[in-house]
Amino acid sequence: MKNFIMAAIAGVFALALQNCYGQSSSGQSTPASKAPEYSHTETAPVKKSNDDWQKVLSPEVYRVARLKGTERPFTSEYEHSKEIGTFYCAVCGNPLFKSDAKYESGCGWPSFFEPISKKSIVEAADNSLGMHRIEVMCGRCKSHLGHVFDDGPPPTGLRYCINGVVLDFEKAKTAEKKFNSKKKAESGS
Ligand SMILES: [Zn+2]
Repeated sequence: MKNFIMAAIAGVFALALQNCYGQSSSGQSTPASKAPEYSHTETAPVKKSNDDWQKVLSPEVYRVARLKGTERPFTSEYEHSKEIGTFYCAVCGNPLFKSDAKYESGCGWPSFFEPISKKSIVEAADNSLGMHRIEVMCGRCKSHLGHVFDDGPPPTGLRYCINGVVLDFEKAKTAEKKFNSKKKAESGS
């Protein structure tokens, strides 16, 4: 009996280890889990209940994007990033901001003076926490991104103050490479 219990424990332990390794190896090559609707080119609106979003998003992305949370200031890897490329909605992949509209506001979150287009985002009055602010949401999936203030630099005078956790960044060179290899594949052999 004792042997049987020991074997069972060892079995469970081995299984747990296996799961662990499985997760870490797949976690290295693939980004955080994405919804099937995630796309950098698709524009059809994405509508899902928060219960369904919670199944596909990481807890921190879910908290900010769907429960209108705020990431801790000065914690985003994108706050001081000067790389050239495009910022996408981390929830649905919608293109939101170009790096050339990004600037150092010092407010603690990635800041932009304009979105890629008027349709990239939607705005709504936010009177929570005793403040009058304008909330910024993704134009495709309506996820909460941050707020827009009128103390930004020219030419717009706007400061889109965005939670970095709900942004995905793709470097321009990577995009170019992908484009070229696709072209090659289409025209090749
Ligand atoms: Zn989105």
